[in-house]
Amino acid sequence: MKFKPANKIQDLQYFGEFGGVNPSISDSSTYTFLSAKTMFDTFEGNADGCYLYSRHTSPSNLYLGEALAEMEGTETANVAGSGMGAITPVLMQLCGAGDHIVSSRTIYGGTYAFLKNFTPKLNINTTFVDITKLDVVENAITENTKVLYCESVSNPLLEVADIRGLAALAKKYNLKLVVDNTFSPLSIAPAQLGADVVVHSLTKFINGSSDTVGGVVCGTQQFIDDLRNVNDGACMLLGSTMDSLRASSILKNMRTLHIRMKQHSKNAMYLAQKFEADGLKTVYPGLISHPSHELFSSMMNEEYGYGGMLTIDVGSLDKANELMELMQNKNLGYLAVSLGFYKTLFSAPGSSTSSEIPEDEQADMGLTDGLIRFSIGLDNDIERTYEMMKSCMQQVGVLKEESFV
Ligand SMILES: *Cc1c(COP(=O)(O)O)cnc(C)c1O
Repeated sequence: MKFKPANKIQDLQYFGEFGGVNPSISDSSTYTFLSAKTMFDTFEGNADGCYLYSRHTSPSNLYLGEALAEMEGTETANVAGSGMGAITPVLMQLCGAGDHIVSSRTIYGGTYAFLKNFTPKLNINTTFVDITKLDVVENAITENTKVLYCESVSNPLLEVADIRGLAALAKKYNLKLVVDNTFSPLSIAPAQLGADVVVHSLTKFINGSSDTVGGVVCGTQQFIDDLRNVNDGACMLLGSTMDSLRASSILKNMRTLHIRMKQHSKNAMYLAQKFEADGLKTVYPGLISHPSHELFSSMMNEEYGYGGMLTIDVGSLDKANELMELMQNKNLGYLAVSLGFYKTLFSAPGSSTSSEIPEDEQADMGLTDGLIRFSIGLDNDIERTYEMMKSCMQQVGVLKEESFV
């Protein structure tokens, strides 16, 4: 049977202490113990089901973590205060001084900056590669390599990683494959394809209301226990903990994720096809013209579509800015970074979210000035949205006015 992530989320039941349909929020940072012995055992990691202190874990964070683990099909998960608060402990848990990482070169700007500028101070070095070329990835592996790192669908170029192929390489060289699945929740389930660890920024589609930051690490019970270990666990010691109130609100939003993802995907597919037909340089994994369209199709849970992210290239930063300002004035969306909101969001990655990447490297990876990244919203009438966007594009000269035949 095919993996059905939304059913798995839906089948979870946690009642409140008075039979509430939502679990009670654990509004405490610390927990009492009936006996001193149990407290000792808990510190030693030998008292399952006992809560210790909320940086370690709390009931609300566990509920959210379990829902996310069900979504990804992993044994368990640990939530964190932000996406970066999930990604950085994973890499620091898996690597020590002298170790090496092979990473996709098209990744979230913050992750790129962490690997490029921060981890070298700890003598952890990274080789950035074109992740779509498995032979290039394999050639970059050294005897010190511990981790292969990529995003299922990359930011902002929407390159697609061959997770099955990367998992086979990881297995061959005894590495851990860590996949950031922020752009494609439900559509792609990396652990089902062989990834060892799956991370998300919950800030984006999963929470979906642009009112918080959050992150999660999904993996084996052993790895999550290691991250939470009071003596040497990176999540526990680096302290990027999510607040319980926030965990409970994200859990509630997550219950509508499947409906939202279907609508994001449907709207993005509609616009991508129209933009492409109009002659705009459009990148969307759902388009047959996308170099990894087949690959995405072979990995996806079909009912959720190809996701809500698309890019167009309008030729120059000036044109991109002019178009984005006009679309915002027409209330078609907001000129803002981030993604997964009910409203369409757009930004020019070269000068914003990917500005950590030096200009020559941007050019090398095909990240051009005129690129606009769209996170397509939940618009009910996407035809109307398209007509209005098209008229904006004509007004700024990105599209030609239609001539009468
Ligand atoms: C936003 C984002 C992150 C970082 O998440 P935060 O919640 O902002 O810390 C990591 N990876 C991807 C792909 C993202 O889009």
